Amino acid sequence: MSIYLKNATYVDWETLKFKTGIIKVNQGQNAGIEFVDAVPTAPTQGDEVVDVAGKIVTHAFACGHHHIYSGLAGGMPFPNKPMNNFVEILQHLWWNLDKKLDLDMIKASAYAVALGCAKNGVSFVIDHHASPLCIRDSLKTIADVLDEVGLSHILCVEHSDRDGEEALQNNLDETANYLEMAKTHPTYQGLVGLHASFTCGDSNLKRSMDLMEKFNSGLHIHVAEDLADESHCEQRYSKRVVERLNDFGALKSSKSIFAHCIHLNDSERAIMNAGKAYIAVNTDSNLNNRVGTFTSHGLNPDRIMLGTDGMYSNMMESAKTHYFVNHALENLQVPDAYARLRNVNRYIRENHFKGDGDNNLVILDPKMPTPLHEGNFLGHFFYGWNSSVVECMIAQGKFVLRDRQVATVNENEVLSFCRTQAERLWSKL
Ligand SMILES: [Zn+2]
Repeated sequence: MSIYLKNATYVDWETLKFKTGIIKVNQGQNAGIEFVDAVPTAPTQGDEVVDVAGKIVTHAFACGHHHIYSGLAGGMPFPNKPMNNFVEILQHLWWNLDKKLDLDMIKASAYAVALGCAKNGVSFVIDHHASPLCIRDSLKTIADVLDEVGLSHILCVEHSDRDGEEALQNNLDETANYLEMAKTHPTYQGLVGLHASFTCGDSNLKRSMDLMEKFNSGLHIHVAEDLADESHCEQRYSKRVVERLNDFGALKSSKSIFAHCIHLNDSERAIMNAGKAYIAVNTDSNLNNRVGTFTSHGLNPDRIMLGTDGMYSNMMESAKTHYFVNHALENLQVPDAYARLRNVNRYIRENHFKGDGDNNLVILDPKMPTPLHEGNFLGHFFYGWNSSVVECMIAQGKFVLRDRQVATVNENEVLSFCRTQAERLWSKL
């Protein structure tokens, strides 16, 4: 079964070269696309021909750092406790919410995020999960929802010491179980997650690194998101956060993802460059938490990618905010901002993860008042468009979003389930 996109204008996501014609989109994981001379006169059963004249076809987006566990947070009541700094925001908001989650709420959170991804043309999610007191089977629950909606994923649990040894061990066990399942499962893929240096003692870090080694995985951790992370590390361990993680071997895997990396000093930047880890930048979240802003000086631009940090599931918005903020801060140029948006696709491919094949596509319908050509795609992308131009998304050769409606699940039923679970969650906060 294939989808034929006729009258297509295809934009190669790496070269930004245009190609017009008929695209045959093959179905299956990494099954790819091909340009063909004609649509078949007698299509085989299940084949479909779609006219995309006047629209843009390009590779679907991917999110380098998400928090599905916060999927039911939109509009929730705010705590009656002070949230004057980053640590208070964690203690009084997120570490209260994540301890109240049960499997139904986690499932609803995954549906909420999956719908958001589909609507915004995001076909691949790298998630960092927290539900420390209800952790068993949480990753499988999330993965199965993302599979049902048609998204690919790399999941992890954030290990931390904040809820004691028993909870930590349960979280380590969930990671081990999921990575074991992933060895043979067609869609499951995972990393070893840690919350952050300041909530992870040496025993936790050692046990997490052992899992990373055992499963040939990478470490997904928040790094220097707030100055408090660096201060804690210097006081407790007499070293900087990246030095500490490097001493444990976390930078030797190209699968490792260090989220944020705002407060790195020059020595840490040099260590990052000598290692293989990627950085996932989340500008909106940083602005919201008032923790500072990432700058790239001294860092390898090829290993800087973008995420959303659970703020939303919209990578076009993440890229635009990052561009405008870092254009002001460090004269970031449009091609470099676009490269950062696409570096998550390079991360996925470099590490041979499944599910980001060429048959993951978005069809954009911008209805432009000005001409579009090969030389000005990025000008339109950053200055003319937002995610409302995403009309369709095809993932692994199947429509996930069609005419702005999710094609794989009943949206109204899913939204109703999400609202019910959100009310249950909010009543416990
Ligand atoms: Zn995060």
